[in-house]
Amino acid sequence: MATITDLVPPGVVTGDNLTTLLEHARANGYAIPAVNCTSSSTANAVLEAGRKSKSPVIIQVSNGGGSFMAGKGYKDADSATVGSVALAVHVRSVAKYYGIPVILHSDHCAKKLLPWFDGMLAADEDFFAKYGEPLFGSHMLDLSEEPDEENIAICVEYFKRMVPMKIWLEMEIGITGGEEDGVNNEDVDPDKLYTTPEQVYSVYQALSQVGDMFSIAAAFGNVHGVYKPGNVKLSPERLVKHQEYTKKMIDSSLTHPLFLVMHGGSGSTDEEIQTAVKAGVVKMNIDTDTQWSYWDGLRGFEKEKRDYLQGQIGNPTGADKPNKKFYDPRVWVRKAEEAMVVRVMTSCEKLNSAGTYEPSNEPGSPQLGQPLKTPSPVVLMAAGALAGSAATLLLKTLGK
Ligand SMILES: [Zn+2]
Repeated sequence: MATITDLVPPGVVTGDNLTTLLEHARANGYAIPAVNCTSSSTANAVLEAGRKSKSPVIIQVSNGGGSFMAGKGYKDADSATVGSVALAVHVRSVAKYYGIPVILHSDHCAKKLLPWFDGMLAADEDFFAKYGEPLFGSHMLDLSEEPDEENIAICVEYFKRMVPMKIWLEMEIGITGGEEDGVNNEDVDPDKLYTTPEQVYSVYQALSQVGDMFSIAAAFGNVHGVYKPGNVKLSPERLVKHQEYTKKMIDSSLTHPLFLVMHGGSGSTDEEIQTAVKAGVVKMNIDTDTQWSYWDGLRGFEKEKRDYLQGQIGNPTGADKPNKKFYDPRVWVRKAEEAMVVRVMTSCEKLNSAGTYEPSNEPGSPQLGQPLKTPSPVVLMAAGALAGSAATLLLKTLGK
């Protein structure tokens, strides 16, 4: 497989670079892991895994994750926006040093959470005005609880606001089972858990008239969270039908005219994941499994070192021995991170994204933005004055 090292720069990618990255994934049969992050610690674990796996990564923040990032002590209505922006700024500060491409994305936004979406878009517009690119590369709207016409109409309106900044839009149609971020679909009719090719095409039809940077999360029996196998069967082969139907309707030369994303993939078999990736899935969400790994790393450490963690002084090696090197957060938080790194690396393998990017060893730099190179009014005035005196001088010289 051709690598993307020469096509896309390391660090946070937006706009055309982001499109190039996802087109490459779609054409070469791999998907990029999209991991929910709630802290600088979890974001760094994803970056570390991407570097070690030689893979691009997607760092995504949910509404609840954004609030957590702002600190639970801050409870105002805009806490999710504040924290999501804070996470984006952290990632922009460090991503380039890891030498791999990183997509900054926001996760599921239901209708009642649209003020959060508006807040992030305002931050994008602000960043765009200063630096010529958006703060985030991509955002997700999830209006799948609403009737299809309303879902699509709201997506179209927001997409019009995103297209001038070249921000990617991910949308969801059909119902994903389970429970996530306060939306509970645990008791939904199993028939509704499969999106039809016609539904997917109606999204394509509406959004492609506005722009081409969009992807669709279609339900194929997937469930958010990890549950015991129930009545619903995961059918990723349905994604092939979506591609075929849209291809036929638009007479496309591409095998996979759609960019598809997979939600509710925790606990899927490797075979199901491969079927989905081969059907043009370019992004797979991972949250539940990495949550468990982060906890499991800490759990294992506590189990092993329990006798060193019961007081500041005193452990099996002596009653007066200090335990600082065990309870320092940099020790036990790191154990959680190490386990999460391993889990994200496993996802890179399963999604075929491992080895697609040779990490850059060039010295990195923060990506907090280089101001646009439009000269300030003062500079323009000075230049005008200089040109004026030069012209006067020239006239004087010619006059002699
Ligand atoms: Zn979803």
